Amino acid sequence: LDHEEFRKQAHLVVDFLADYYKNIEKYLVCSQVKPGFLTDTLPDSAPTQPQPLEAILQDVQNHIIPGLTHWQSPGFFAYFQSNGSTANFLGEMLLTGFNTVGFNWLASPAATELEIVVMEWLLKLLQLPKSFSFSSEGGGVIHGSTCESFVCTLVSARQKKMNRIDSSKRDSTNLWSNLVVYCSDQTHFSFQKASQIVGINPNNVRVVQTTKSMNFQLCPNALLKLIKADVRAGLVPLYLCLTVGTTPTTAVDPLGILCEVAKQFDMWAHVDAAYAGSACICPEFRHFLDGVEGATSFSFNPHKWLLTSLDCCCLWVKDRSDLTKALATDPELLKNYKENEYSKKVVDYKDWQIALSRRFRSMKLWMVMKSYGVSGLREFIRRHVKMAQHFEALLFRDKRFEVVVPRNFATVCFRIAPLSESSTEEDVNRLNKKLLESLNGTGDVYMTHAVVENIFVIRVAIGATLTEEKHVNMLWDMVQKHANALLGSKEL
Ligand code: PLP
Repeated sequence: LDHEEFRKQAHLVVDFLADYYKNIEKYLVCSQVKPGFLTDTLPDSAPTQPQPLEAILQDVQNHIIPGLTHWQSPGFFAYFQSNGSTANFLGEMLLTGFNTVGFNWLASPAATELEIVVMEWLLKLLQLPKSFSFSSEGGGVIHGSTCESFVCTLVSARQKKMNRIDSSKRDSTNLWSNLVVYCSDQTHFSFQKASQIVGINPNNVRVVQTTKSMNFQLCPNALLKLIKADVRAGLVPLYLCLTVGTTPTTAVDPLGILCEVAKQFDMWAHVDAAYAGSACICPEFRHFLDGVEGATSFSFNPHKWLLTSLDCCCLWVKDRSDLTKALATDPELLKNYKENEYSKKVVDYKDWQIALSRRFRSMKLWMVMKSYGVSGLREFIRRHVKMAQHFEALLFRDKRFEVVVPRNFATVCFRIAPLSESSTEEDVNRLNKKLLESLNGTGDVYMTHAVVENIFVIRVAIGATLTEEKHVNMLWDMVQKHANALLGSKEL
């Protein structure tokens, strides 16, 4: 790692990326390559001799970029975005440059303490209850993904439950296989995955069905009914997963009342706000988190909508000892400072997550928060919400379309409305599927869909950093043009 060579080569890569962003609108948003396009092209063994950076970048341009789906393109309206920023990029450069591995405090004191600082900044920005703060019994940690946060909190919930149950009863009740977890049919599938990883009996994952008439929110009464039936059957309610901003339609579960239900049955209540949490830094959207004070833990992903690149999931717990009791290890190898005076005062983040090693993710989040300031971050969110309102208003004006569920944030769920009273739901779904395929087929935009209560909806998630109102207008023109073509088509 020669520092002058590093300087020269890093500049080349920065120039390469600056050109990528300059030309990003020239690329098809969603890659149209066929499976094997790269594995059939690149050599099947690593080069024997070193290759110059110029040649490597040429390969990136010629072979890699054609197979990229351009998440940073202003025409990207799919899934939930992962928006980037210059500040984030610079933060990533710094953290990769330092390449520290701060598993415990001593392994990189700045990495640990900067993480504490940014998690406390964010806690204040989101107006999370003080009980989630390091100044109380709580605290925050940066994980790589929501799935990781689910795994860690599920294990913590199980450990807590085990500790509460009298040890003489523990074996006879066969507790582990009797534990039950609850979510809704709108909960992100990573919760099911996390439950599988943790070893929750697959028959004990209860999924509450939601309905359009209730805007796809988790219904407290339906939940209560399931829990009571489980308790009657001798099962043990463990964990309730709630969502603010569900993936299919951005529905918001009623947190207050659901957390009350969880409390009644001594369950862990986790609030997953992976997408919508970022919006809640704006006072006008904060009400979506009302009731979070009743939760045991809360997480959101700045890597979706807070100008910070993958991977960055912020998790807070009300009682940090819940995590450490379940996840802490004390190997001899890491005892090098345990005996000294600091040991009681510091956080060892290895005990708050799955892996031992960890990236210095707080560096990029800190860069973003410092570079934008609170006002800049709020302005960023509001810009997207305003564009979504604009798109929604355009849909409302054209009677051929309907907005399927009320828009809460910057994602609009719409479809071509049933053509007549006699249209079946299958016909309407087929029509909308064709509309989505023809729009995506242009390569100018990329959107994805959801199916809720058998209704196929097209999701327009407005959130790429480079998206401006002109791109939303272009999308609307395209939607109209393609709908005109389809609605005139005899095939339908
Ligand atoms: N929860 C919600 C509401 C999401 O929308 C997503 C991803 O889109 C996830 C969880 C999964 O997040 P991760 O990929 O960080 O595990």
